[in-house]
Amino acid sequence: MAKVLYENDIQKEVLQNKKIAIIGYGSQGHAHAKNLRDSGYDVVVGLRPGKSQQQAVEDGFEAYTVAEAVSTADVVMVLLPDERQPQVYEESIKPNLKAGSALAFAHGFNIHFNQVVPPENVDVFLVAPKGPGHLVRRTYEEGAGVPALYGIHQDVTGDAKAIALAYAEGIGAARAGVLQTSFQEETETDLFGEQAVLCGGLTSLVKAGFETLTEAGYQPEVAYFECLHELKLIVDLMYEGGLENMRYSISDTAQWGDFVSGPRVINEETKARMKDVLTDIQTGKFAHGWILENQANRPQFNAINNAEYNHPITAVGKELRALMPFVKNPIENKEKEGN
Ligand code: NAD
Ligand code: MG
Ligand code: MG
Ligand code: MG
Ligand code: MG
Ligand code: MG
Repeated sequence: MAKVLYENDIQKEVLQNKKIAIIGYGSQGHAHAKNLRDSGYDVVVGLRPGKSQQQAVEDGFEAYTVAEAVSTADVVMVLLPDERQPQVYEESIKPNLKAGSALAFAHGFNIHFNQVVPPENVDVFLVAPKGPGHLVRRTYEEGAGVPALYGIHQDVTGDAKAIALAYAEGIGAARAGVLQTSFQEETETDLFGEQAVLCGGLTSLVKAGFETLTEAGYQPEVAYFECLHELKLIVDLMYEGGLENMRYSISDTAQWGDFVSGPRVINEETKARMKDVLTDIQTGKFAHGWILENQANRPQFNAINNAEYNHPITAVGKELRALMPFVKNPIENKEKEGN
């Protein structure tokens, strides 16, 4: 069994007299900055002028440029979009990194695929929360936390592991569990999870179910509730008690349908496609395509994003959610946070 660490396993002193610069104030950035500050650490935020910077100032942080924040910091956590990190790193981070400081990431992509190559005189570590940034903040405020993985790429001070663990504890992750990984494992499993299961697999499953029902003549509102809205209620049961808890709660009819029909939809063929997806991640083929797509200003990303937005499930969802005021819209919240 892997060793999972909790609050009492972690020393905090190593981070207490250090200045932490959070670079970027988006989904992860705002959560790390606020949680670390509430945990008693010395936090500054580094940003370009814009909406995120205004939000950081409104939240009580001083506005520094990326270069200014990096030059005073002992720990620099890079929470910019992955595809922008290489350029900002070259222009504003690398020239200002103090010898003996620590450069940190919340996802291993740029280090693992050599898009950022740090100097030899800094520690390099990873603290990757296994959940969306807005939940990293919300759960912390509730006295809970989102679990995180940590990994060490370079340890020049001999303290890299201790600093990474204290950092993970400071954002609240040790309340849920902190687990050691490598940049390679975190990068490959994170990309696989979001592509095959959490994001890609799930959106394709939901759309296919919605289309099957509406093409058969059933009402789109009924299809939306059945294939999208109810998913959260089912996933909450899985989150709280695993597959067995969800199956305990559903009717035996639903459970029999789960057993006999689930494997007709997701089967060995699907698993073979998942293995293809994993291979493309492991060989760097996926990373290469995403890097080129960004260099070309995202022609395919934007075209697919527009087409997806025009899927009938979007309109019916908007209509139904407007009638459920207790359902909070995270995109509206995100816009308020300046993205
Ligand atoms: P985001 O898009 O929500 O926020 C990015 C921030 O960077 C914003 O404040 C934006 O204004 C700022 N920014 C963008 N370009 C900039 C530039 N050129 N100069 C200065 N600031 C700039 O990003 P995110 O989703 O929080 O992702 C940050 C990192 O966290 C990534 O490495 C990502 O893989 C990782 N991560 C994200 C999540 C998540 O929940 N979103 C989960 C785990 C790990
Ligand atoms: Mg994003
Ligand atoms: Mg992830
Ligand atoms: Mg990810
Ligand atoms: Mg039902
Ligand atoms: Mg049951």
